[in-house]
Amino acid sequence: MQKKDPPILVTRPSLPPVEEYEALVREIFSTHYLTNGGAQHQRLEAALRDHLGAQHLRLFTNGHLALECAISAFGFDGGEIITTPFTFISTTHAIVRCGLTPVFCDVEPTYYTIDTERIEALITPRTRAILPVHVYGNPCDMEAIDRVAKKHGLPVLYDAAHAFGVTIHGRAVASYGEASMFSFHATKCYHTIEGGAVACRSADFAERLNGYKNFGLHSEEDIREVGGNAKMNEFQAAMGLLNLKYFEREIEKRGRVAARYRENLAGIEGLSFRPIPDGIRQNYAYLPVTFDPEAFGRTRDEVDKTLNSYGVFARKYFYPLPSEAACYQGRFRPEETPVALAASRRVLTLPMYADLALDDVDDICEIVASCRQ
Ligand SMILES: *Cc1c(COP(=O)(O)O)cnc(C)c1O
Repeated sequence: MQKKDPPILVTRPSLPPVEEYEALVREIFSTHYLTNGGAQHQRLEAALRDHLGAQHLRLFTNGHLALECAISAFGFDGGEIITTPFTFISTTHAIVRCGLTPVFCDVEPTYYTIDTERIEALITPRTRAILPVHVYGNPCDMEAIDRVAKKHGLPVLYDAAHAFGVTIHGRAVASYGEASMFSFHATKCYHTIEGGAVACRSADFAERLNGYKNFGLHSEEDIREVGGNAKMNEFQAAMGLLNLKYFEREIEKRGRVAARYRENLAGIEGLSFRPIPDGIRQNYAYLPVTFDPEAFGRTRDEVDKTLNSYGVFARKYFYPLPSEAACYQGRFRPEETPVALAASRRVLTLPMYADLALDDVDDICEIVASCRQ
């Protein structure tokens, strides 16, 4: 097989027709209103609140700051937050940068979401909240999390960065917990170039989010929070409005790519996909494949290197675990979350995007299958 040129990367953001973006940019140019909650921002905020099934929703310049503002909005004065180590480093950094201590709960081996059986043992008098992650867009067991949280009077904040548009038996993921953070980064299945949002249950919480993302200002003379600047601008919001318009098509195309991968790689010993759960509307944000080195005869890293030699660049989401990151050296014990640790060595997320040609999927699958020994 020929080396891919240009190379195939793990993702490639979809873009709306350029004329449509230009039309919205012209509106921005005609008003000279560039940021601070302009017309595009207001339209997008309302549209996403409805689309995500949220009571309240606030937009942010990116998902990471959205998460930091959400943690701040709870008003904790230090303490611990129970979370998982099988996630993008942002989740852990947000907790630490807000002055709290992450306490890592292991994930369960089927979907790699928080193992709800293990949460309770980690609760201490210093626990302030639970921060689970809908990793790869697979929703956590939110009913079980809710039961533990209620029993101990703890709020739940979801990292829903991967879960845009995911529903469970028709119910939106954003309708669970006190709040959920979504990321609209260019590499996510829905994007605003850079961007993010927090969906939340209470109007008070939404009001505090307004403060944290805009220097604590609620009016010129009313400065209530020690806030920073995390506002989404009009150009981002315009991109978001158009990508929302085309989101159904995005999901349809991604669904086709995902189905082709599953079909091509079905029944290969030592290689597995996460099962498709019942009643879930998926968003096909990622294509994680788990390699069992004994049964497959090759390690995940060997498969990755082989793909590289053909110009195909998958990603090792999530390796290293946040709990093993250099900046946290000696602070956490990765071996205490063995399921997450094993997953970080075994999972490769293959290229996945709406415009990935099915012929290319076939080629990628052929390379992967040929690695087996
Ligand atoms: C992308 C991501 C974030 C951060 O979002 P940005 O928009 O990139 O700042 C946080 N958590 C997870 C799990 C993510 O994948």
